[in-house]
Amino acid sequence: MKPLPSEFEHQFILQAMGEAIIAVDLDRRILWTNGAFTRLFGYDGEEVLGKTTEFLYACREDFEEQGRLRYSPSSPSVHPPYEVRYVRKNSRVFWGEAWGAAVCDMEDRRIGFMVAIRDISVRKQLIHDLHMEKEQWFVTLRSIGDAVITTDGEGRVVYMNPVAERLTGWNLSVASGKTVSTVFVIVNEYTRKSTECPVTRCLREGTIVGLANHTLLLSRSGEEYSIEDSAAPILDDDGRVRGAVIVFHDVTEKRKLEQRIAYQANYDALTGLPNRHLFQDRLTQAIARAQREGTLAALLYIDVDDFKNINDRMGHPFGDRILIELGRRLKSIVRETDTIARIGGDEFAVVLSDLPDKEEALDLGRRLMFEAAIPFRIDSTRADLTVSIGVALCPMDGSRATTLVRNADIALYQVKRAGRNNIRFFSREMNRSVQNSLRIESDLREALEKNSFFLLYQPIVHLEGARTVGVEALLRWRHKGKVRPPEGFIPLAEEAGLIVPLGQWVLRESLRQGAEWVRRGIFPGRLTVNVGVRQIHAEGFVEFLEAEIVESGFPADRLELEITERTLMFRDRHTLSTLTRIREMGVKVSIDDFGIGYSSLTYLRHFPVDILKIDRSFLKDMMDNHHDQAIVRAILAMARSLSIDVVAEGVECVEQALFLQENGCRHAQGFFFSGPIPPEDVCRFFSNSGQDRAPE
Ligand code: C2E
Ligand code: MG
Ligand code: MG
Repeated sequence: MKPLPSEFEHQFILQAMGEAIIAVDLDRRILWTNGAFTRLFGYDGEEVLGKTTEFLYACREDFEEQGRLRYSPSSPSVHPPYEVRYVRKNSRVFWGEAWGAAVCDMEDRRIGFMVAIRDISVRKQLIHDLHMEKEQWFVTLRSIGDAVITTDGEGRVVYMNPVAERLTGWNLSVASGKTVSTVFVIVNEYTRKSTECPVTRCLREGTIVGLANHTLLLSRSGEEYSIEDSAAPILDDDGRVRGAVIVFHDVTEKRKLEQRIAYQANYDALTGLPNRHLFQDRLTQAIARAQREGTLAALLYIDVDDFKNINDRMGHPFGDRILIELGRRLKSIVRETDTIARIGGDEFAVVLSDLPDKEEALDLGRRLMFEAAIPFRIDSTRADLTVSIGVALCPMDGSRATTLVRNADIALYQVKRAGRNNIRFFSREMNRSVQNSLRIESDLREALEKNSFFLLYQPIVHLEGARTVGVEALLRWRHKGKVRPPEGFIPLAEEAGLIVPLGQWVLRESLRQGAEWVRRGIFPGRLTVNVGVRQIHAEGFVEFLEAEIVESGFPADRLELEITERTLMFRDRHTLSTLTRIREMGVKVSIDDFGIGYSSLTYLRHFPVDILKIDRSFLKDMMDNHHDQAIVRAILAMARSLSIDVVAEGVECVEQALFLQENGCRHAQGFFFSGPIPPEDVCRFFSNSGQDRAPE
């Protein structure tokens, strides 16, 4: 190789450090290369001499462009570094950074160029990777469900992702550069006092800061979001705080759910009143307070009488609406500081604290009863109801929640047993008698299985000639060697839910007995059977009745069912259709104990009934009581005008019988004619009466 002119050498020494060096002439033909060139490009120095540098470029366009930019006569003599893709001898392309300078001769004429080339693939890759990473970062931030705000070291907004924009109501373009507390406005959910922005603390302390619980974000557009999460500092390589990032998310739905669950755990979904759980809590508190302050507290247990009846007949939605309305009414009476809770289906409880005396509890109880008794109107249906209330006092009747609850329940049970619609305080004697009732209840259950019930039959007579026209089946229970009358156990059977199977037994047995009499030709009369309100409204009653009539073979038109006025308490379609279907079978319907209780003459207009039985209480003192006489006369006159037959119950003397007859009453029943008798004696009454036909 020819030695280079000294100018070249000079340039070379100045510029050769570790980089590939090429010396070219003005036509970019290679004059000289160094060892680094060979290492970088893979060509031997000799191999490339005299060639233009085009073959070193990965693409021809770059070669040409560089020519225009840097190798034309007018191009600057020093080339700042530029990046180009080169190709190695082995065809591998790489990114190189080149820079060069023109070389001049003594007369300062440009004669060529020196170019240094460095492989920058690694740097390029790093930059590329960094770029990609950043891209990914942003894509991630843009797409995640969390809101992200970053700030600089002064707490000014640098970046917000779209979720953060939506929740704060700020656009990044507007928010950028603003103090974060302007954009991210948070308050405490309950106090609504503003909360310190976590970024402030995070920047101050350089640690991760969690948001306080129950944080509410107030958006610029007036929205409020429950949020959750934290702020973390952004540190540089030296660990200095350069900024902060807040990541938060909307937990409004979650918070609502939490609140709903907490609510459901303590409140009754139907009435919105505290439930049994919260009630227990409040009761415990009231007891603690009574003990601490030496005051009086009371627990009132309230149960709707015969609520099952309402539900069975009017349907659950109707029953629900009654409960809602009742809850509202009860709540309107108790003081703010007292608790009224719904503790079960139709059971409510009131906890009263700080009472001056027990009269106060009685007074409130009465007002509750009064409120409940005001007729309910649901859509166009009217419903009347009554409640029973049992009361237990703290400290007299117990100073533990469980004891008070038990004792109030015992008092309530007593009210139920004594005919409902009343209020009673717990007493120790009550406890004993309730224990007794509970025993009887369990005995009743057993009796139903062992069949220790039987029926007596009481003749019903035609007042003219006192001939027997029918019999009423009356239930008896042989219990512990005694015969119990129905009034002593029927309310208990109702409470215990045994009335339906018991009533079924009565119907089946009386029909069997009646059919036997008919077969033997000794019973020309009518058979009357009492049917309780629960029984008649129980599902499938009509079908049951029909099946039993067919099964027994007793003529349907000689059967009469006695229902009480309670049965007719609601003027609903269901009752109407049950009665109609019963009568379509030919069975007669009579209203028992007419004149007491829910008596309303309008019932008679609404329901198809055949017979009224005047309650025996009117007959009792009738001969000395003009008032009762007037009532009996009025009932008789009204029945006549409605073409309804009347049976007077409880006739015990001849004067009563005569009075009734004079006033147009045709039928009667009572000890004067006969008390209830065993079935084997019944035929005697018919043969004695000398009649052999059904009553007209
Ligand atoms: P009720 O249907 O009004 O039955 C008439 C009641 O009056 C019977 O009492 C009868 O013994 C009594 N009695 C009859 N004549 C006289 C009299 O001259 N003076 C007096 N003071 N009382 C008289 P009992 O058998 O104790 O039945 C009481 C109530 O029990 C019945 O009243 C009826 O409501 C109910 N009951 C009886 N058997 C059944 C039954 O099988 N099912 C249902 N659900 N209830 C029944
Ligand atoms: Mg009866
Ligand atoms: Mg009666």
